[in-house]
Amino acid sequence: MTLITETHLRTQLVKGLPNPFPITDGDKLTPAAADFLKDRGISLRHVAPSESTILPRSEDIGLKLIPVGVSNRHVHLSPEHVEALFGGGYALTPQRELSQKGQFAARETVTLVGPKGIIQHVRILGPSRGATQVEISRTDGYALGVHPPVRLSGDIQGTPSITLVGSGGTVVLQQGLIIAKNHVHMSPEDAQTFQVNEGDHLIVQAMAERPIIFADTIVRVSAHFSLDFHIDLDEANAAHLNTGDKVQMIGKNGEITRAERRQL
Ligand SMILES: [Zn+2]
Repeated sequence: MTLITETHLRTQLVKGLPNPFPITDGDKLTPAAADFLKDRGISLRHVAPSESTILPRSEDIGLKLIPVGVSNRHVHLSPEHVEALFGGGYALTPQRELSQKGQFAARETVTLVGPKGIIQHVRILGPSRGATQVEISRTDGYALGVHPPVRLSGDIQGTPSITLVGSGGTVVLQQGLIIAKNHVHMSPEDAQTFQVNEGDHLIVQAMAERPIIFADTIVRVSAHFSLDFHIDLDEANAAHLNTGDKVQMIGKNGEITRAERRQL
C-alpha cells in the first residue's frame, strides 16, 4: 500500500502527472492529494498492482530526510543550581535517555514562576551544564507573562529573568529564558551526505498534512550527534509534526536547491 500525499504529487509535477492518475486498490490518497488532483482536472484510474506507476521512493528522487525531535519546555541546570533547588550534594536522577548520546531527562522537575503565572512539572534535562537555561514555547510565554527571544541554545546574553522552584529551594535566574531556535544535529558523516557545514542555514519542509517550510534551521555538527531536527511544541503543532516524523531538506542558506521545488 502506498500513501499518496500532496507532497509526493508536487514532486512529480515537474515530470508531468499522468491523466488519469493510476492507483492500485490498496493505495490511499490524503484529502490534500485528492484535492490536488481534482483541482487540476486529473481523474483516478484503478489499476492492477503490477501496472501502477509506483511513486518514486524518497531515496530515488534524492529526498534528504531528517527525523523530527519535538522538545517540550525544559530546563538545563548548572551544578550550583541543582544544589540550590534540591539541596547540597544533590545529583539528578536519569529517568529516560534522549536521542542525543549522553543526554537524559531527569526524574526531577521544577516550577517556573513568571510575572503572570506559573508552569509546574517542567522537566530537567541532564547532565548539568555551565549555565542554567530555561527553554519554553511562545505559548508558555503567554502563560508566564514573559516573552523571551528566539535563540540558539547557549546564547543567553540579555535574555529575560525567570524564577525556578525545586523541592529544596528557589533560584531567581537573572537571564537564561529563551525560545529555542530550531536546529538540526548531525554527525560529520551526515553533514557529508547532506553536503552541509556547521552553521549552515537549512531549508526543510514538513511532509505531514501541513507542508510547512522551516526556512532557517541551523546545522550543528559533532561526532557525538545523531541526526535530529529539533523543534519546539508550537512549531510541531503548527506543522502537524510528532517526534519520529520526517522532514525533507529542500535547500540551504536561502536557496531552494531541489529542482522540483522551483515549480511551486
Ligand atoms: Zn537540540
